[in-house]
Amino acid sequence: MTQQIVIIGAGECGGRAALSLRDRGFVGSITLVGSEPLAPYERPPLSKDAILLSAEPKFIAQADRFASLAIDLRLGVSATDLNRSGRCVSLSDGTSVPYDKLLLATGARPRALPAMTSLNGRVRTLRSHADAMEIRSFLGPGQRVAIIGGGFIGLELAASARKLGTSVTLIEGLPRILSRGVPAEIAEAVASRHQAEGVEILCNARIDKIEQSADVAEVLLEDGSLIQADLVIVGIGSIPNTELAAEAGLAIDNGIAVDNHLRTSDPDIYAAGDCCSFPATHYGERRVRLESWRSAQEQALLAAANMMGAQETSTAVPWFWSDQYDLTLQVAGLAEGTAATVRRDLSAEAFILFHLAEDGRLLAASGIGPGNAIARDIRLAEMLIASAKTIDPAALAAPATKLKALLAA
Ligand SMILES: Cc1cc2nc3c(=O)[nH]c(=O)nc-3n(C[C@H](O)[C@H](O)[C@H](O)COP(=O)(O)OP(=O)(O)OC[C@H]3O[C@@H](n4cnc5c(N)ncnc54)[C@H](O)[C@@H]3O)c2cc1C
Repeated sequence: MTQQIVIIGAGECGGRAALSLRDRGFVGSITLVGSEPLAPYERPPLSKDAILLSAEPKFIAQADRFASLAIDLRLGVSATDLNRSGRCVSLSDGTSVPYDKLLLATGARPRALPAMTSLNGRVRTLRSHADAMEIRSFLGPGQRVAIIGGGFIGLELAASARKLGTSVTLIEGLPRILSRGVPAEIAEAVASRHQAEGVEILCNARIDKIEQSADVAEVLLEDGSLIQADLVIVGIGSIPNTELAAEAGLAIDNGIAVDNHLRTSDPDIYAAGDCCSFPATHYGERRVRLESWRSAQEQALLAAANMMGAQETSTAVPWFWSDQYDLTLQVAGLAEGTAATVRRDLSAEAFILFHLAEDGRLLAASGIGPGNAIARDIRLAEMLIASAKTIDPAALAAPATKLKALLAA
């Protein structure tokens, strides 16, 4: 019988899993171990409002809420060793905690560039609230920032930095920004908006060296050009935190490999959130790893249920959003294997691209528009993806056709 549950990683997934265990009536002991000094907080604001407002972290729940639920929250402490045969985890404070069921929710960390000699001073990455506050201290009128990487985090930071009056140069190694998971048409709309806001975007730009002194940071490109800035931010993707699992002999495959129930290769150990790869429902059980706020939440609840003995599997469609200026971009589903793409214009500024498989099923939808202009149609697109119906591309393209009607058909 499960009496002791230990969760490693007190982020989006770990925090919500702990709360969900109590919501579901788990009465045994719960230990939630997090290497950061803060109670679980939301990461998405870190490249958005937190940077603009120097805000307090947006807590998922305060430490006293965890205490009131008898969740033993150990902050500023890392799990250093996982002893599967002894069923216990060693912590950096010299203690160890026994478990019946263990959840690894260790998240991911920013990828480093080989050209980066050190990560401090004027060269930074963004993952934690502390990172965001340090970055914020460099932004403002008269300041210059160079952002390496035209992915979501780099672009959101570029928008936030511009709003604060900072000069921004965005350096992308590939021919266009957002080349991972976002169609070119949407990436172009995003790039145009950044350029209109004064961001200088350099594509096909290969980094040779990054150097810093007390006064300035410098990025030297392979073509010989030099970009000087007060701060260089490197946003070139993330690496899942799998070391603890790997050293304990758990299967790793682009993340801690789990099955449909989020169970690792050890049936008493689960993994969820950014650190795990899982078989994607709706996509032929293809193994994927997501870095998505909603997925981390959904997996937290699923892991909690299954650690308590349920045998639930996920039916969720992958979903991601990004806010830049007044624009919101959303991607639902996985577009790999697209045979045809159709465009639906919702207004002069808002459109959605639908990606269809050879057999006419909807695989993915990606859209962009101001505020929540695309939200409803993307939500319906998620349901169409989950339904696996064959859909007439012309109907998808016609704004007059209600997606709800396609769902009901
Ligand atoms: C700046 C930023 C902006 C984002 N914006 C969006 C967005 O707009 N839309 C979206 O869908 N997603 C966004 N995301 C992604 C989303 O925040 C993540 O998918 C989500 O936080 C993943 O949750 P997690 O619990 O798996 O990992 P995390 O939230 O990273 O939590 C993992 C925790 O585990 C801790 N940990 C790691 N190893 C150990 C160990 N050995 N011992 C103890 N603790 C450990 C880490 O320190 C961390 O606190 C953003 C992420 C960032 C960084």
